[in-house]
Order: sequence, then structure tokens, then C-alpha cells
Amino acid sequence: MLSQENLVPALPDGTLALTFDDGPGPHSLPIGHFLHEQGIRATFFVVGRSIRETPKILSELQALGHAIGNHTDTHPRLPLLDTAEAVKREVAETHRLIEASGCQPPHLLRAPYGYWTAGLAAILNTDPELSRYSGPFGWSVENLDYRIGLPRDPKVMDSPIHTFESCCESYLKQVREKRQGVVLIHDWAADPEPKLRKQLRAGNRSLEITRWLIPRIKSDFKFVRLDELPAPTARFAPAAAPPLPAPAIQPGQAWANLARLPT
Ligand SMILES: [Zn+2]
Repeated sequence: MLSQENLVPALPDGTLALTFDDGPGPHSLPIGHFLHEQGIRATFFVVGRSIRETPKILSELQALGHAIGNHTDTHPRLPLLDTAEAVKREVAETHRLIEASGCQPPHLLRAPYGYWTAGLAAILNTDPELSRYSGPFGWSVENLDYRIGLPRDPKVMDSPIHTFESCCESYLKQVREKRQGVVLIHDWAADPEPKLRKQLRAGNRSLEITRWLIPRIKSDFKFVRLDELPAPTARFAPAAAPPLPAPAIQPGQAWANLARLPT
């Protein structure tokens, strides 16, 4: 059954769950192979839109020991959908695509952007298949990895560019301070807005982040998949939904325009 609230599993001290969102994409298999070589199993929350673009990846990821989770079909803000049928279709279609790719869906759900309501849980829990899902799973460690190369905060003028180095260092700092948690990295982008999706995909550094981070933390942590957790370990997420991705702006152009505004 899906929970009324976003869930962030309370993992034992020294335990991390690596999660990769919005794929599959070109980085997913290299990440999957790299983690496999390191003896690490992760959870990939995939989007139907991305599965259709690269349909042959999922079964190989699963064969490497990784779990495949459902992250909806078109990556919408689920609470904004008009009908219960539209909500069910978003999850059911990706469930179908995961099965069609030869995988066993582990019935894990992550809501796009972490947006979730009790009403969504009620809708999906009326469906015999979808009510077998657990989640939706939130996260506790992330650092805007999808904004590398862009202004870190698009709403703030003169916001510094989010660099690869600052992104990686922040992941490392959070993991070491929290000592446990669900780590979110985006192995692709599935935003509904085509221009923004293209922009975010062009800057994706997920493989490099993974290669940078894992050697620095591997010996200090045990790594688990989300479907390996006993159900009672889940607890309600303490924080509200994370910030939405940036609006579709051309970064350089937007800041130049702002600078030309009359003072
Ligand atoms: Zn997502």
C-alpha cells in the first residue's frame, strides 16, 4: 500500500541507499556497471518517457543487481492532474513498460519532485496491481546535481554557477554528517518542459559524480536497495517537497536581460 505521506526510510547508522532518477538514459548502464564492479546495488527510478527512448537498458540494469522503481510515465506534478484515471495511467503505464522490458517491477514508487497527497495514495490504492506498491520514497541527501553548469538558484540574481566540484563536495559532506540516508542523483532528466529537459540532459554529470563519490565513501558505508528494507523502517519525511526545477530559461540570456533592466 502506498503511504499518505512521502516516506524517507530511517536507515541504520552507516547505511546508504543510492537512488538514480529520471532514466534510463545514456549514463544508466555505465553507472550500473561501475556500481556492480564496486559490489554496490542501487535503485533506479525510471520514467516511461525515458524507457521508450532507451528500451533495452532496464533488464541489463536488473541483471547487474539493481532495483527498478517506478517514477511515472511523463514526470508530471501528480497533484495537478485532473482525474483519478490520469493519475493511475501515469503509474500503470510505466509499470507496463518495466514489465515489457523483461523486468520484475519491485513495486517501488517515487513521485516526481516529491509532490504527493493523501488523495493520490487513495486513488492508487484502489487499483489491485498499483496497491502493491510501497512508497512514495523521498530522499534525504541531494544537491541539485541537475543544475551543474547553471546558476545554482535561478530566482536569485548573480546566483553563482553550480559547479561539479561544489556539487560533489556537498554530497560528500552531507553523507559524512548524516551517516545514513537515501541519496538522490539524476541519471537523466525527464522534466515535462522540452526545452528545460534538453538543457538539463546536456549538463548531466551523474556518471562522473558517482565515480567521484563512491571511492571516497565506499569503505565507510553499507549500501542497500530500497526494496531490501523492512517495511516498518519507513518514517514520514520531515521536510516539505523539494524545490521545483528551474523554469525554462536560457541561463546566459536571462542574466544578460536582467542586467539590462532600467534601474
Ligand atoms: Zn524525477
